[in-house]
Amino acid sequence: MLDDAGLRALREAARLSPENLPLRRHLAEQLLAGGYLSEAEAEYRAALRLAPGDPDIVAGLAEAFVRQSSHGAALSALEPFLAVPGYPPQLGVIAARALLGEGDTVGAAQRYRDAVSRDPAVSDTDLAVRLEPPQPVTDVPAYAAPVSSGETGVEAVRSRVTFADVAGMDTVKEALRIKLLLPVQQPDLFAAFGKRAGGGVMMYGPPGAGKTHLARAAAGELGASFIDVGLADILDMYIGSSERNLRATFNLARRNRPCVLFFDEVDALAARRADMRQAHNRQLVNQFLAEFDGVDERANEGVLVLAATNAPWYVDAAFRRPGRFDQLVFVPPPDVAARAAILRILCRDKPLAEMDFDAVARATDQFAGADLKGVVDRAVEAKLQQSISAGRLVPLTTQDLLAAARNARPTAVREWLATARNYVLHANDSGAWDELTPWIKDIR
Ligand code: ADP
Repeated sequence: MLDDAGLRALREAARLSPENLPLRRHLAEQLLAGGYLSEAEAEYRAALRLAPGDPDIVAGLAEAFVRQSSHGAALSALEPFLAVPGYPPQLGVIAARALLGEGDTVGAAQRYRDAVSRDPAVSDTDLAVRLEPPQPVTDVPAYAAPVSSGETGVEAVRSRVTFADVAGMDTVKEALRIKLLLPVQQPDLFAAFGKRAGGGVMMYGPPGAGKTHLARAAAGELGASFIDVGLADILDMYIGSSERNLRATFNLARRNRPCVLFFDEVDALAARRADMRQAHNRQLVNQFLAEFDGVDERANEGVLVLAATNAPWYVDAAFRRPGRFDQLVFVPPPDVAARAAILRILCRDKPLAEMDFDAVARATDQFAGADLKGVVDRAVEAKLQQSISAGRLVPLTTQDLLAAARNARPTAVREWLATARNYVLHANDSGAWDELTPWIKDIR
């Protein structure tokens, strides 16, 4: 995909040579790949005027329509082609997506089957799943053999931390409360407004900002069990009999409801499928989505799916559809007040002299929660050594924390914000990253 400067150059070239078909077609493709959908649509139209009847150009135009949810327009563009026997199969797949978008599941399934039977290479597993879920997710029957945690390496635990252990982050806590906790704690109120528990929340932000900590705390707050599926577990799923493991993990959550099922570094699983070379990975994603959706709306009742990612921009749009991770919550790096609060929590059970946590917080700009934990751990270690030499307990002081902070060089927050800045400035047409704007203003 071209960067902004490349696109600008291409636009300029196309403006100067409006009759150059390969150029216009290339520009249209780049615009589509970059997500500039209405501009891509205009370019494809222009290209089609130069080469009426070119199926690749029509495919691009229809794709641009479908991605803007203009399903009717996509179908009208495709119809003349589809009416001819032996039409290019790839057009049939786009038509199937448009039909599905219009709610015509039967027509979409017919179209899709026809296209794939003529050319299996055009198959689209996500679409196939939406048309005919491969393995309907049923509730776990009472006689189901227990899924040993050993099978997946994943287990359900009780969480002892609650929101009281999470410093600051009031906005994030509030969002989680409304989405996850209230429907379970006050079902009548939710039912009265025709709302039900379900769907998931995806938290994103710099590494170490406290996403995992929050997920665990949400489980504790709810008195729910907690299942932490980390990157290693996900990668194991790629290698092993992945679909079965994924299903076993969801079933484990269903048997332990109420349960918070937490997928850390979900971008590893949910990287845009277009980026995935291997059909196997795509199948894992589709299985994940099928499990998440469930066969019916009760399949995952009491299972709250939370996910965390440092790279929300890599997450496939299919993950963000309604009923899935339809809420994206930014977990910001802690500001000075939050840092002081985190330090207070981290030092809670330690022997302390009189502490000036605010001073340490001021000296730890750009430190994430995990970095602060590192500072406290190092200071405590040093104190332990001193206590052993002195033969008595020497309490931790503000100076100890300041010294440990001076020796630390955390870079994760700054690097993350620099990456985020690129997305806010160059790939924010949909406004998805508006929330980040105040955080990147001082970043170069
Ligand atoms: P992430 O999942 O975002 O990478 P973690 O949740 O693993 O970050 O955070 C690392 C550690 O930092 C946590 O285990 C916790 O001890 C500490 N921490 C982070 N944020 C907070 C917070 N708001 N309050 C208390 N501790 C925090």
